[in-house]
Amino acid sequence: GTTVDISQVLLSDMFLFMYQLKSVLWIVLHFDIRKRPFGKNLLIFDLLCACDVLTVCLCVLSAASYTDSSDDETSPRDKQQKNSKGNGDFCIKNIKQADFGRREIEIAEQEMPALMALRKRAQGEKPLAGAKVVGCTHITAQTAVLMETLSALGAQCRWAACNIYSTQNEVAAALAEGGFSVFAWKGESEDDFWWCIDRCVNVEGWQPNMILDDGGDLTHWIYKKYPNMFKKIKGIVEESVTGVHRLYQLSKAGKLCVPAMNVNDSVTKQKFDNLYCCRESILDGLKRTTDVMFGGKQVVVCGYGEVGKGCCAALKAMGSIVYVTEIDPICALQACMDGFRLVKLNEVIRQVDIVITCTGNKNVVVREYLDRMKNGCIVCNMGHSNTEIDVASLRTPELTWERVRSQVDHVIWPDGKRIVLLAEGRLLNLSCSTVPTFVLSITATTQALALIELYNAPEGRYKQDVYLLPKKMDEYVASLHLPTFDAHLTELTDEQAKYLGLNKNGPFKPNYYRYENISAIHANLFHPNFYIYTNYHLLLYFLFFSLRY
Ligand code: NAD
Repeated sequence: GTTVDISQVLLSDMFLFMYQLKSVLWIVLHFDIRKRPFGKNLLIFDLLCACDVLTVCLCVLSAASYTDSSDDETSPRDKQQKNSKGNGDFCIKNIKQADFGRREIEIAEQEMPALMALRKRAQGEKPLAGAKVVGCTHITAQTAVLMETLSALGAQCRWAACNIYSTQNEVAAALAEGGFSVFAWKGESEDDFWWCIDRCVNVEGWQPNMILDDGGDLTHWIYKKYPNMFKKIKGIVEESVTGVHRLYQLSKAGKLCVPAMNVNDSVTKQKFDNLYCCRESILDGLKRTTDVMFGGKQVVVCGYGEVGKGCCAALKAMGSIVYVTEIDPICALQACMDGFRLVKLNEVIRQVDIVITCTGNKNVVVREYLDRMKNGCIVCNMGHSNTEIDVASLRTPELTWERVRSQVDHVIWPDGKRIVLLAEGRLLNLSCSTVPTFVLSITATTQALALIELYNAPEGRYKQDVYLLPKKMDEYVASLHLPTFDAHLTELTDEQAKYLGLNKNGPFKPNYYRYENISAIHANLFHPNFYIYTNYHLLLYFLFFSLRY
């Protein structure tokens, strides 16, 4: 979300404290001036106090400009916009924030070693020369590092946001100042959202030949409005579960007309972005919006996929009592083996303090459940789209909405019961907190490599279907990040490589290898008794079916 410079906040706090201290002194000293031997020095003291008031005002004003809490309500669409070089092919909140955005991007660069390494390696060769990439992802400092890397690799980029709340306005400003055609601001309306996507695609003299999408909205828009564009498009790189699901549906219906790379299911993305990123950011998002204490709270997490696993692990570590709902028996069994109570939502909905959805599905939390929640229950979503909680069902005349903080609404029932709805049911961490840059670096590198692969693939290597990133590339992404940890990778000896039947340079695992990394799953699934027990049931299952048919 909006970035707050902590040093500025501390500085303002320090000045405020000094000011308050001086105010107290001022009152004490003026209380009975005649009895004070230093009464004549009070004028100087008064002057000092006045200076402090000025300083505080300046501090508050500078912080306000940085966090963009100005009252400028004019829609960016209604403003004439130009950067310092006179280029106006963008639409953002406020170009004056470009310097702040540049600092954000520079901070992100420090935690994105692989992209920076790719830039260095590409100084001579330009693997994306001639590529015209249209992107629709969260517009954050990390995306900016990706866009600038793609540009350094030779691509031209036009970008829109895939979420109406997640744009960092100052970053969008820095990108626009740097010459990128960015169409995004925090707090877009639904209409703005599609308008921005359209501005990226519908432009004279420029046609995209690559799509980088997160959620499938951009791909969907081009399919709907400009199907002819696909004649020139070489491929789609899709990041999210939701978008990938849409691509598989298109492929199944025989309507996918270009190759698509499913980046979401690449090991590096799944394990790092979905799992580790959410494990770190769920607490941050909840804390910033509600100041809730986690210890002892009852939480229900809907969906025990990668995101759900991350959320559950973090909440459990903080001492919360965590319940899980699942539809898939395998994920359900994993939840049980990890020590979580598997329940149906209606069994716990009256008692829980926090409800978190992360299924990628729709209508998981419907009005019936919202009606039964207890007073003060916090409701939020970590899945890609805002369909998981039926927020629309809360917009009825008998319920009152009260905005209590940015991204925090109290929805109040006639009997006074209120629930705390975060980010109007949109993705919590990207709307209300920051996500760890290092994790995003892994995803962004995977996206960059997927674009390079699809763009440079010889005719016929990829057909009109959905593909996974080749395993070797996954390993390459991971290896580019290892130097950050001063990690020393062991190399196979010739003898060992021969023994395992592997190439010394990888790939080191077959495509079906799962990389399960929740230690509890390892501990339990590979315990001999459990293993035999599970296999025993599998054997019975196969026997049963072979006898039937
Ligand atoms: P996943 O497919 O691994 O997990 C989703 C789980 O939800 C599955 O196990 C599925 O069986 C279960 N599920 C589906 N419908 C359900 C229902 N009605 N009730 C209970 N469980 C149900 O996907 P994932 O990688 O965990 O991603 C989940 C969502 O989070 C997606 O929309 C994805 O785009 C999004 N995502 C968010 C972030 C983030 O930073 N917040 C990061 C990555 C992905």
